Amino acid sequence: MAEMRTIEDLDAQGKRVLVRVDYNVPIKDGEVTDDTRIRASLPTLERLLEQGASLVLMSHRGRPSGEGFEEAFTLRPAALRLAELLGKPVSFATDTIGEDAHAKVAALGAGDIVVLENLRFDKREKKNDAEFAAELAKLGDVYVNDAFGTAHRAHASTAGVAELLPAYAGKLMEREVATLSGMLENPRRPFAAILGGSKVSDKIKVIDALMDTCDTLIIGGGMCFTFLLAQGKSVGTSLKEEDWVERAAEMLKKADEKGVQLLLPVDVVVADAFANDANTQTVSVDEIPDDMMGLDIGPETAKLYADAIANAQTIFWNGPMGVFEMPAFEAGTKAVALAVAANADADSIIGGGDSVAAVNQFDLADQMTFISTGGGASMELVQGEKLPGVEVLMA
Ligand code: AMP
Repeated sequence: MAEMRTIEDLDAQGKRVLVRVDYNVPIKDGEVTDDTRIRASLPTLERLLEQGASLVLMSHRGRPSGEGFEEAFTLRPAALRLAELLGKPVSFATDTIGEDAHAKVAALGAGDIVVLENLRFDKREKKNDAEFAAELAKLGDVYVNDAFGTAHRAHASTAGVAELLPAYAGKLMEREVATLSGMLENPRRPFAAILGGSKVSDKIKVIDALMDTCDTLIIGGGMCFTFLLAQGKSVGTSLKEEDWVERAAEMLKKADEKGVQLLLPVDVVVADAFANDANTQTVSVDEIPDDMMGLDIGPETAKLYADAIANAQTIFWNGPMGVFEMPAFEAGTKAVALAVAANADADSIIGGGDSVAAVNQFDLADQMTFISTGGGASMELVQGEKLPGVEVLMA
């Protein structure tokens, strides 16, 4: 992959830097309940501040209607949290391109910061509207994008504005792209990819792309049942996508042709209802009862998967092995998480979304090499798609 322009190439001294951050954080009663994303932006902000820049931060949060201010989606608590983390005042503008933003931006001195209100209060943000992008561009001398999580969207703040100002990748963006592309282009081998989650249809492109580069592909979660169907097994009332059985069969064939070791469950935990207190049994995949659904991989499978993970030098994981939100069906996901954590020699890369939640649930986050902050963006990058927010930063 071509190189990105990064803030290492930028002398921000005396400049007003418009920074796209990802402050799409959960907020309850006016307090940020998980500040991971705000913390993740600090290395970039601190570097720019050290150089004597003033900073104009912009982000979206949630999915407002785009018809103006909605209290439920305000970014004000994120600005307050940022001030606490930086230990210095952070001002907040109650709009994005309006009077308040212009006044607060004009008042910035070197080392000062303002956070703008939620970009998506204006529906032109998601439309990548040229006029909106031009208005945003007026707020800075240069543009830095550190919001990897929205890099797969061509919005005014991720794509449009980057065409209008000198544009650079922040440290988080740089690390995300470098880690994921390095994994695809030059993995240490063996390279094991673990894919789970609910639907084959969502993951088929990732499976297809990883098959071209990985040595072992481990499949769990609801989507394994469509693969089991493709092998001619019956899966009871488990989650299945009949329309995708043929594609799953093609993937089995592709694995064979490419010499990729494709691992599917040999046993599963089945339940008579989608509930934590359902009646459960562990059965072989050849004996799934007609009236039961598989909600987790079984212990034999967990052991098989853990052995494959123990042998790998590069591990990529996206998607839980079962319904890990319910304690009755978390064992498979936990076993995989523990196996990844235990392999300290490997580069372990967690590809966003629910696998990050699982790793946090089992308190293993600090034992992983890299945890991606962007679920959708990391999947699109892995499946070989060009991310509009990254493309505009290419040197
Ligand atoms: P995804 O968003 O596609 O990554 O899927 C994550 C979701 O898949 C989680 O909420 C899990 O509870 C769910 N899931 C995992 N395994 C199963 C399964 N065997 N049956 C139904 N849902 C599952």
